[in-house]
Amino acid sequence: MALLDSAIWSEKIFLNGWRAGSAEPTDILEPATGNVLERAGLASADDIHEAAQKAAEAQKAWAATKPAERAAVMRRAGQIFEDHAAELTDWIQRETGAIPAKAGLEITVAANECYDASALPHHSMGDVLTSDEDHWSFARRLPVGVVGVISPFNFPLILSIRSVVPALALGNAVVLKPDPRTPVSGGVMIARALEEAGLPEGVFQMVPGGAEAGAALTEAPEIEVVSFTGSTAAGRKVGEAAGRNLKRVHLELGGNNATVVLPGADVAKAASAGAFGSFLHQGQVCMTTGRHLVHESIAEEYVAALQQKAEQLPLGDPTEENIAIGPVIDEGQRDNIDRIVQQSKDGGAKVVAGGSYDKLFYSPTVITDLTDESPAWSQEIFGPVAPVRTFSTIEEAAEIINASEYGLSVGLLGNVGEAMKLADMVRSGKVHINEQTVSDESNAPFGGFGNSGNGSRIGGYTTNIEAFTEVQWLTMRPEIAPYPF
Ligand code: NAD
Repeated sequence: MALLDSAIWSEKIFLNGWRAGSAEPTDILEPATGNVLERAGLASADDIHEAAQKAAEAQKAWAATKPAERAAVMRRAGQIFEDHAAELTDWIQRETGAIPAKAGLEITVAANECYDASALPHHSMGDVLTSDEDHWSFARRLPVGVVGVISPFNFPLILSIRSVVPALALGNAVVLKPDPRTPVSGGVMIARALEEAGLPEGVFQMVPGGAEAGAALTEAPEIEVVSFTGSTAAGRKVGEAAGRNLKRVHLELGGNNATVVLPGADVAKAASAGAFGSFLHQGQVCMTTGRHLVHESIAEEYVAALQQKAEQLPLGDPTEENIAIGPVIDEGQRDNIDRIVQQSKDGGAKVVAGGSYDKLFYSPTVITDLTDESPAWSQEIFGPVAPVRTFSTIEEAAEIINASEYGLSVGLLGNVGEAMKLADMVRSGKVHINEQTVSDESNAPFGGFGNSGNGSRIGGYTTNIEAFTEVQWLTMRPEIAPYPF
């Protein structure tokens, strides 16, 4: 049976089971064709508050279940993603405009997130402390209660599930608010998988909606921790609301990531890495290579190789054969990409490939002759655009990398010794030597410096335990302690 049988979820939200939301349902559009794929239910602020209350009620019994029971639900959910991979891949391709490789990656990572989460319930939950008092002393980790998750449109499944399943496995309830443009990949899939895996009712709520719904989630008193992935502008608002409400918040925000091509690097391999870094999923990835920093000795050769790639990559509906570049998510996104390219051109930059679009298909673009002020260099583009500049020394490269307001990912291509020196000089949450900037694995800590986030990390056992538990100091002694009065 299909996991995503629309008779179950069409025009519904998942609030103690499938039911109509209080907001008007929305069309789910296929960016490649403009066709309506289905209708999704949307949640109002009241629905979000109800979801948080119901989650808080269900959480206590869930936290009291045996670790083996929580682990088993996670394992079954992982298996469901694997068993339904073909069906889910097709949905991700159509709803997000993804090529098969990107859609397949989302499913693989989702399954791995579930399997990794299945190990969390049996993981050590704290420390035994030494003490100068005559008591035993422990720091033990407890579930926080209800975790709110807000996710974006670009990698909707991974960016939702990477917080949802570790939080659940650790005994929390979760309220997930996916982006209304990708409610199936970012929400319905996870709700259906967890439902089929036997998660008790109420422990997971899935309430799609826009900024207003997200804001309601950050205000809901039952939600103790918010895990937000999205733009820096929205992240600031979420951070402000969380601060006001004394909630802990994990902010995973924007990036303007540099891939550096060091002197002596193999130019053909570097250009392939650079093209992948800038063009995968039409550049709509927080880790996208938004800045190519190429040593002056090989820059001309590198730009020619990148230009050739950009001009040859097949653009079109990603459900057709051999497409490398699909559509961007919507007109707003496309117009923002084009504004950045045109403004940079007006400022003196040279567009050596692309720079134009047809409907939602933006041609892979290579830009040179940029300055610090060019919007294509200084801003996050979130589109298939490769801006290239040169450097002379690794000290200069480090200075240019660190001048960005962001600090999410850096790729260093070429001589490993030089790359190691540069790795020590950059301010970045991730550094990849001889790989480009886009990389994510379920057991690796993920997060950025500067305006890429607030220093939180998600991914890996220790990181996830820190992200989704509270610490309690617990002492015990055999008799009531003696006191001086
Ligand atoms: P966005 O910030 O507009 O939306 C992200 C999510 O936040 C959506 O669910 C949206 O409905 C919600 N939202 C928007 N305003 C809100 C508010 N005031 N309060 C609460 N929720 C709100 O982001 P976008 O433009 O759709 O996504 C792209 C951005 O996300 C890029 O900047 C990209 O770099 C970033 N991103 C970061 C990561 C990461 O892990 N660091 C991963 C993917 C995307």
